[in-house]
Amino acid sequence: MPLSGLDIFKLLPKTNCKDCGFPTCLAFAMQLAAGKTELEKCPHVSEQAKEALAEASQPPVLKVEIGVGDNSFKVGEETVVYRHDRTFVNQNAFAIAINDDDNSEKIDETINKINNLKYERVGQVLEINAVCLKNNSGNKENFFNVAEKIFGSCKKPIILVSENIEVLKESALKFKEKNPLIHGITTKNYEQLKQVVKDSGCPFVVRGKDFDEIAELTSNLRNDGIKNLIIDIGTRNLKGDFYNQIMLRRAAVYKKNRLFGYPTIVFPNELTSDPLKETLIASIFVAKYGSIIVLSNPRPENIFPLLVYRQNIYTDPRKPMAVEQKIYEINNPDSSSPVLITTNFSLTYFIISGEVESSKVPSWLLVMDVEGQSVLTAWAAGKFVPEMIANFVKKSGIEEKISRKELIVPGYVSQLQGELEEELGNGWKVIVGPREAGDVPKFLKAYVSSN
Ligand code: SF4
Repeated sequence: MPLSGLDIFKLLPKTNCKDCGFPTCLAFAMQLAAGKTELEKCPHVSEQAKEALAEASQPPVLKVEIGVGDNSFKVGEETVVYRHDRTFVNQNAFAIAINDDDNSEKIDETINKINNLKYERVGQVLEINAVCLKNNSGNKENFFNVAEKIFGSCKKPIILVSENIEVLKESALKFKEKNPLIHGITTKNYEQLKQVVKDSGCPFVVRGKDFDEIAELTSNLRNDGIKNLIIDIGTRNLKGDFYNQIMLRRAAVYKKNRLFGYPTIVFPNELTSDPLKETLIASIFVAKYGSIIVLSNPRPENIFPLLVYRQNIYTDPRKPMAVEQKIYEINNPDSSSPVLITTNFSLTYFIISGEVESSKVPSWLLVMDVEGQSVLTAWAAGKFVPEMIANFVKKSGIEEKISRKELIVPGYVSQLQGELEEELGNGWKVIVGPREAGDVPKFLKAYVSSN
């Protein structure tokens, strides 16, 4: 169990030296217990105390990494039940299932689709994270042949699933350099597998039908110093799996129960054979709280909505998505090209730049840093106002790039026109652009043909 603030306080030097940035050791202890600061902030803590305190500084849901280097993903490290309490930390991973008894063409086709499925949205790349290979055939050689094939042709991390103890043991030792996730340890095979879990260092799934089985396994493994675990609980039934996911997160965060404080894996691919239903079930687990979600196919029509939904759920509500403040050149502008201005809220930038690009009109787009707010919000907050805009335009360097000093402002802030012209001075003219982004291409075409 994690330590309380007072338990932590007892292990601190109690000098109240303030080197950690807190006024007293007690204040630091309380913040550490709440997960709001890090132990490293106190430079005077003894090695002995560090060991005892390490537990307290870990998040309620531990972090687990699968794969290596650029070809890896992290899950867990979560500290809240509801995103609005703070934020969710590591987005869930989507894995696509492959059975080792699928025919060779089907396997090739699936790998090919997994490799190629990639979208860019508001500056982020959305893609599938892993392949989940299941030992359906029960045959060891077959399983390893397909695993080798996947490792050779797909860079995604792999989840290796088998009920055969020998296959599990060999998988962990044979592929440990690739750090695959091995599924899994049960109460029946625990004794035979625990040494290989230690020796390989690979993350393992603990599989139990209920909370008692999971607690027994995670407790035994913790006693052996093994915490690199993912939980698979339940009986492959939507209602039960949904309930279990919620209970695990609540036990980890509210009850601070370390036995349930691990990321989880769920299998919507085993809950239905209907692809649309599977997508719907997977979306439930994106929000509640599947860390790895296994799907039956990489069809874009099923995956894309899930990727976008995940992006929204795992966007940090405390940090607006923002792009860099600078002059963006669209369609190779020259000195006679129009100059538009907008704010650095990602969505605003991507929508406007997309419309300008589609207009085919060479343009300069000035993007002003307003802490990631949209145009109207920034204006209402006093961050997109004439004085600040004029200051930004003058310092941006746009004047050296253009021959005609005309600045097109978003239609929603037309009221800025007069004052902004005054602030800009030096012959600048302010033009009011359209209110809706969709009208930008028409506006730009009319603007360039009338000049
Ligand atoms: S740096 Fe350490 S010893 Fe100093 S006040 Fe903070 S917790 Fe106490």
